Amino acid sequence: MTLRNYINGELVKPHSDKYLDNYDPSTGKVYSLIPDSDERDVVDATNAAKAAFPSWSATSKEKRSEVILKIVDLINRDFDKLVAAESKDNGKPIWLAEKVDIPRAASNLHFFATGILHFASEAHMMENRAINYTRRDPIGVVGCISPWNLPLYLFTWKIAPALATGNCVVAKPSEITPMTAYLLSELCVEAGLPKGVLNLVHGLGPKVGAAITEHPDIKAISFTGGTATGAQIARTAAPMFKKLSLELGGKNPNIIFEDCNYDKMLATTLASSFANQGQICLCGSRIFIQRGIYDRFKADFVAKVAKRKVSFPSDPEAKLGAVVSKPHMEKVLSYIDLAKEEGGTVLTGGHQVHLEGEYAQGYYLAPTIIEGLAFDCRTNQEEIFGPVVTITPFDTEEEVLLMANSTDYGLAATIWTENLTRAHRMANEIQMGIVWINCWLLRDLRTPFGGVKSSGVGREGGFEAFKFFTEAKNVCIEL
Ligand code: NAD
Repeated sequence: MTLRNYINGELVKPHSDKYLDNYDPSTGKVYSLIPDSDERDVVDATNAAKAAFPSWSATSKEKRSEVILKIVDLINRDFDKLVAAESKDNGKPIWLAEKVDIPRAASNLHFFATGILHFASEAHMMENRAINYTRRDPIGVVGCISPWNLPLYLFTWKIAPALATGNCVVAKPSEITPMTAYLLSELCVEAGLPKGVLNLVHGLGPKVGAAITEHPDIKAISFTGGTATGAQIARTAAPMFKKLSLELGGKNPNIIFEDCNYDKMLATTLASSFANQGQICLCGSRIFIQRGIYDRFKADFVAKVAKRKVSFPSDPEAKLGAVVSKPHMEKVLSYIDLAKEEGGTVLTGGHQVHLEGEYAQGYYLAPTIIEGLAFDCRTNQEEIFGPVVTITPFDTEEEVLLMANSTDYGLAATIWTENLTRAHRMANEIQMGIVWINCWLLRDLRTPFGGVKSSGVGREGGFEAFKFFTEAKNVCIEL
């Protein structure tokens, strides 16, 4: 299968007529070809978006909402096809794509298509002197660049608020997982999304992503991906005064106090450590356990993790599927070597898993638990983004806060305690954009989503996203 770009309402070849291999991580084999697009395709996409903007931005919210909801209907119609495609492209278990990725892609579009109908602008009265009202107008052409870990989920999380607010979009999915975005572009054609409103250019980050970032007519960039890429984008976009939303890496602490609800904590910690092969920016990769329950937790957690089945994505019993690519698998394995060099002990996992038959060349890793590392060593400071966690004991709140806050990152924390006062105190002191208490990944799409420090700039979600994708203009009328 050869994918096409989606430009000006049509599925087209890239100018270069060159293609990149797309691998199925579960088998390690090439199964489709992706356009190796370049600046010329980004220019075409931007021109199409510019031409579409006057009409799309003048279209009523209700009409824009209607077209986006039509795309939601088509996603639901093609649900099984999209689930299978996401699993094949990314290596994740089919049940996970079915439970999380595709339902969430549909609900992202639904949420913003209906949310826009409730997005009111502000008015500020100056007693009897004057009235101010704030217009919130679409920016124009915006760029959306997304990563491979939750492909359609994060792609739609960006394009939905951009389109609902009346912008036209030039978007780039990850070249590692382009398939569901491509299938979405087919659905946009079928839904009758006006041409040029959404354009999708496939290809490499340093070529296509950089061309989007550099294009002077693309006035805002919404990016999710690695911190180093985010810094590169900021270096280009900041002097051009583009609006920037950067959702970057994390090294999230999972803090477990002795007074937690132990069974709930243990079950949730299995998920927060290894869901999606540990490739969720919100996974808790540093687990801190209060000393009184450290040994019990270690024994229970290791026993359960050692039994987690690593298998091909269509195996309904697979708890973990393949990681996304060979280079990524090698990166994760290199961090396990580093952990050993730094004095860590691998309690379970720590190696590649070799399946049989057609899956023999797939990229499978055993879920890995490491202990005995200093909180400030590289393994505990750098993002690994795979099925690897460290466990570390602590005694006091002050000590665990110091360790939890010690990294450059500040995305999300999970805290387990039945002590309400302590929960609030910890939430107050922890330097993260998101804090879950006695739960993990419980999401209300209205809440602000994003990180502090090197985990990002700006917030997505709810009206925050609408504000990002609009420019405020205050109008003051003297009475
Ligand atoms: P990545 O930074 O390598 O790539 C992300 C996207 O940026 C891809 O589409 C890629 O092609 C593009 N890109 C690469 N170089 C570029 C450049 N020079 N200019 C413009 N675009 C460029 O990240 P990844 O490996 O795809 O994703 C994993 C990372 O994403 C992890 O660090 C993870 O924590 C992070 N992430 C963060 C969140 C969040 O919400 N904070 C969510 C998911 C993933």
